[in-house]
Amino acid sequence: MKCRHCAAELVHTFIDLGYAPPSNAYLTAADLSRPELYYPLNIKVCDQCWLVQTEDYAEAEELFSADYAYFSSTSSGWLEHASRYAQQMIEDLSLTAESLVIEVASNDGYLLKNFVAAGVPCLGIEPTVSTAEAAEKLGIPVLREFFGESLATQLKNSGRQADLIAGNNVYAHVPDINDFTRGLKAALKPGGTITLEFPHLLQLINHTQFDTIYHEHFSYLSLYTVNRVFAAAALKVCHVEELSTHGGSLRVFGCHLEDAREPTPAVAALLEQEAGQGLQQLATYQGFQARADQLKDNLLSFLLEQKRAGKTVAAYGAAAKGNTLLNYAGVKPDLLPYVCDAAPAKQGKFMPGSHIPILAPSALAADCPDYLLVLPWNIADEVKQQNSELAERGVRFVTAVPTLEVS
Ligand SMILES: [Zn+2]
Repeated sequence: MKCRHCAAELVHTFIDLGYAPPSNAYLTAADLSRPELYYPLNIKVCDQCWLVQTEDYAEAEELFSADYAYFSSTSSGWLEHASRYAQQMIEDLSLTAESLVIEVASNDGYLLKNFVAAGVPCLGIEPTVSTAEAAEKLGIPVLREFFGESLATQLKNSGRQADLIAGNNVYAHVPDINDFTRGLKAALKPGGTITLEFPHLLQLINHTQFDTIYHEHFSYLSLYTVNRVFAAAALKVCHVEELSTHGGSLRVFGCHLEDAREPTPAVAALLEQEAGQGLQQLATYQGFQARADQLKDNLLSFLLEQKRAGKTVAAYGAAAKGNTLLNYAGVKPDLLPYVCDAAPAKQGKFMPGSHIPILAPSALAADCPDYLLVLPWNIADEVKQQNSELAERGVRFVTAVPTLEVS
């Protein structure tokens, strides 16, 4: 296989997580009596451009099926994050009724609704039918397509270039990062701004966040690599911010290469930090597997200990990262009988691979388990606050990443 960005031969494995079904392929009761598709989950690192990437096996269309169940609006913390971002952009970029904001992967309209409320015209791009319909109900026009150079060129030719193109947690999820980036270039007005948010590879490595690895997540990105990918598409990184979302993300600001804006000192500082922590050295990527295996073993030991002691453990949050963790660890309903999730679209279904049933959060109050394993550790505080009455009844909260913690 060749690197998706620079086409160099990929010879180094970053981590091999065996075989797993797509993380968002939630199953119905009827699906349980059918065969389930597993794909290798083997992550490579390119020793030329340092793009960390999944091995190619499955087509994007196959992985992002029409009933893909994730709705951004189910997390209140994420909604606040989106609202603050919109206000900041409207002020900083002086967006008006004459501007256009395009969001790639606009999901259920969690972000663009803030621009609609401020009277700034917007356009969502979202191939997933169920979430696109939810956004349209909020008055957001949505193109139900995959974004790339072809769609962006159509937008450009119809005079619909954007003052702001936002992409939150989509850049790492596109199979062809070069085509996507050329699309950003084509759809951007002269003088326009791009912002992309994605989990920072540096945090993934530093905090052993191996459960953020799944098939739909094609790239694991450093600022160094994004800088190179942008340059190849005649774009440049002009600013960067570090965010606490998803265990540590970057918000990269981009503009046309010929734009008068000079990169801010934050760009050079972060590039220097990445280099200082060895992100352009192979040794940094080796040894990650052993640390991930340690985390997996710690979780399994904990679950086995509780089972032997006659204690009950349930899980909260049927998130993609939970599926990676549970499937790599080989956890089945005998160790973890159910997982609760606030998203109605997931309730009544089963986790892919592990076949653990997904219930409404109300099941927790009725069952009152001894321990609650919070799978999306990035929103563990929010989950704890929302379920404070469980803590009062003696339920203890557990997270498995970056280390096993019981509180
Ligand atoms: Zn490469």
